[in-house]
Amino acid sequence: MSEPLTAQRGAAQIFSGLSDDEAELLSQADRFARAELYPLAPHMDNEEWWPDQAFPKLGANGYFGITAPESLGGSGADLFTSGLILQAFARWNHAFALSWVAHENLWLQKLLRNASPEQLARYAPPMCRGESIGALGLTEPGAGSDALGSMRTTAVRDGDDYVLNGTKIYITNGPVADVLLVYAKTDKGLGSQGISAFIVESGFPGFKVAQKLVKMGFRGSQTAELVFDNCRVPAANLIGAENSGVKVVMSGLDLERAMIAPLCLGIAERALELSLDYARTRQQFGKPIASFQMVQDKLAQMYVWVESMRVFTYQALRAASALEGGDAGRGDIHKITAASVMFAANTMNQVLNEAVQIHGGSGYIWESEINRLYRAIKLLEIGAGTTEVRKIIISGEMLRG
Ligand SMILES: Cc1cc2nc3c(=O)[nH]c(=O)nc-3n(C[C@H](O)[C@H](O)[C@H](O)COP(=O)(O)OP(=O)(O)OC[C@H]3O[C@@H](n4cnc5c(N)ncnc54)[C@H](O)[C@@H]3O)c2cc1C
Repeated sequence: MSEPLTAQRGAAQIFSGLSDDEAELLSQADRFARAELYPLAPHMDNEEWWPDQAFPKLGANGYFGITAPESLGGSGADLFTSGLILQAFARWNHAFALSWVAHENLWLQKLLRNASPEQLARYAPPMCRGESIGALGLTEPGAGSDALGSMRTTAVRDGDDYVLNGTKIYITNGPVADVLLVYAKTDKGLGSQGISAFIVESGFPGFKVAQKLVKMGFRGSQTAELVFDNCRVPAANLIGAENSGVKVVMSGLDLERAMIAPLCLGIAERALELSLDYARTRQQFGKPIASFQMVQDKLAQMYVWVESMRVFTYQALRAASALEGGDAGRGDIHKITAASVMFAANTMNQVLNEAVQIHGGSGYIWESEINRLYRAIKLLEIGAGTTEVRKIIISGEMLRG
């Protein structure tokens, strides 16, 4: 007689919906992140230090190019697999996980979906090896939530080049990037339809990191203001046709949102784990604080929040994973992915609030791990579209006639 399912896989794994292979992959990535990324986290947070060797090391271990074809040096896996790796990295070093997802998802994913075979052959393999760090430059000082409509950066054709002028701000990996996806207006008269996407190498003349920005959280992930001062970009580095930048933006939008939620899930899981450890060991009134019902209430509530995040995150990620190129940016998936990231970010906020409360004064101290997580989480309600923008998308899709 065969073993009952619960004996083979465990109720928690069945509830999460992960197959045995997926559970094993998550656990492998978790072990790797704990051994390799966790020890870097305090130094990265305290001094905004960037570990130069980490990207190539991850590349050598197959942790870049997850969704890239093997012919380009990738693993040929799907977005869901990529999300599980992100979840594991976020548990042990959320700042590194943010830099990883900016490289892997914000940029490489779009390169794979939109670039020509020549562009792919030149730029994808070094990104898959972790030898070339990627960044996405969309946001500008005057163009955040309205990134496309208010864009001021321009690109003007000059012989075999385009000449870019403008400023991009809050760019993850900006200070350390080797190759960037940059959006610029090629036809001002067409409004948001007059935008094009370019591959810009940091060595191109006229590209400058104007300043590295100091942040309250995710401090090890490097963020910059970038300036393009008559920056010459070969016309061969235009992605797709001129004025087709909106298509490139939209092709990645839902996938990006689906991939923010695992970052939130990993952080929330770690916060719950730290809180359980603390509640078991911290003694007050002669007993562990875990014996007090008000602390148990918090732990139970945190568990429910984390498990709800897990289900929503995985379901949205599977739906986004099934998208073929060009399907994103409208319809149900647009609503679902916006909802998943909104729920994950807001719920993680509640988890972290209770986690710091359980840690008492020690949670308020800068150097504690829970404090490091608490300082970070606000970003997930702002970056890749704010909570308000996510609500606009969800209600807009529901109210569409
Ligand atoms: C650490 C960090 C990393 C980032 N990484 C990148 C990156 O790698 N690449 C990149 O291109 N960008 C990046 N961003 C930029 C990020 O995507 C923007 O900050 C975000 O889209 C919001 O834009 P904004 O900051 O200009 O805020 P604003 O758009 O000015 O919004 C300010 C407030 O107004 C609200 N608001 C705006 N419009 C509306 C509306 N119509 N209705 C209701 N409320 C509204 C917003 O929700 C928000 O509360 C990053 C940002 C940070 C902080």
